[in-house]
Amino acid sequence: MSNVRELLRPSKSDWAALPSRGSGIRVTLTVWLAGVGTVAGAFVADQGWEAAPAPSPEVALAPLEVAVIGATLAAVYFAAFGWALGRRAAFASPVIFTACWLVHAAGGSSSTPVWAVGALTGLLLAGREVRASLRQLRKVRSLADRLRDGSRVHVGSKALGAEHGALARGRGVVVVLAVVALLLWATFLVQLANGGGQVTVAPETIFAPTTVSVAGVASLLTVLWAAQVAWRWWAHRQLAATVWEVPGTEGPVWTAHLVRSYGGGLTRRDSEASGCICREEAERHDLDEDPGWMIGSIPTDDYCPAHGIDAVNALDHGAFRKLARATWLWDASSAVPHSEGETFYSGAGLLAFAGHAFPGIPVFREADDVDSVSPFVEPATEITRPERAGPPQWADPDFVPPAEQGILDVIDLGPAGFPGTAVRYRHGRAWHRF
Ligand SMILES: [Zn+2]
Repeated sequence: MSNVRELLRPSKSDWAALPSRGSGIRVTLTVWLAGVGTVAGAFVADQGWEAAPAPSPEVALAPLEVAVIGATLAAVYFAAFGWALGRRAAFASPVIFTACWLVHAAGGSSSTPVWAVGALTGLLLAGREVRASLRQLRKVRSLADRLRDGSRVHVGSKALGAEHGALARGRGVVVVLAVVALLLWATFLVQLANGGGQVTVAPETIFAPTTVSVAGVASLLTVLWAAQVAWRWWAHRQLAATVWEVPGTEGPVWTAHLVRSYGGGLTRRDSEASGCICREEAERHDLDEDPGWMIGSIPTDDYCPAHGIDAVNALDHGAFRKLARATWLWDASSAVPHSEGETFYSGAGLLAFAGHAFPGIPVFREADDVDSVSPFVEPATEITRPERAGPPQWADPDFVPPAEQGILDVIDLGPAGFPGTAVRYRHGRAWHRF
């Protein structure tokens, strides 16, 4: 993909006006409970408790009977485990219940109308999901069209690597699921051929998981995952040429870079300072304890010759003021000073932002180009409508009030154009006080 993209600069209100999808938990629960209701209703309609096993040791099932049992079992699986699909349940439900509807109608079951209601409910809910997704993508696209002003920006190799990785995600799962589904269908066809067009089972195992029901579920999962990969690819394709300068946290996605105001981190450029051991130390430490650093900035090391506590305290007041915007000067729970009216971390951006389908790769602006912290950076995270009601609380670090002990000195930030003072500590990083 091209490493020169169009630079878009939405205003704060443009960004905040982009629509979000509704709560994913609500969608999942609604779809799943509708599925449970359909299965229960069908059981009642068919008087499932009266199905007595045939007296003979084996029964031969015609393909239609096998299909009825297979589809019904898939519906039972959905009622048991459908919630685990998350939002994808909205698309699994109409497929499963339409299959049940068709095969039960062909078999003349009395549960046919119940399956029909289940299938139509599923279609309605899936339609709502599709509409919300398309609406968001359309708004993002029209905003991009409006903001295009011919500005171009060069994208670094780490961001391109992260973009490639995000697009490839899920492809392996699709291939594995497809192979499993094909093998199961092949097995079923062999069983059918060996039985002369019928499948013979012992009556007590008639509702045990059959090859055809498992094959059906594997095929459905293949289609769901493939559709998600394809939808992501399609959404990305439409906005692949863009880099968005993000004006704040009020938009439809969230990423660590959008929160400007706390200290303790290091930008990529700062980490390239001579003698810096911060990146090395961060990589050496157990990353499982703080896997978040890869998406955000690099954590500072207290003993780094370039960014350690001694380095902060060795700066004279003039040098400190000049560097006041560097996050490494400040404690991880301290605000980083910013001037009046400034509303965002200048330089935070998203590569190829296309709404929730492809939420964009977090990038930093550096001189004439943009790049990511690493090629393994995660894409931004979708913020759904209920979450947007307030700023994400989990984005704020734990607030620990600064101690009065161990103060080294106090620096007035006024001459640098920032409100308040910096309080430096002998054994810690500086705190910003208003
Ligand atoms: Zn360092």
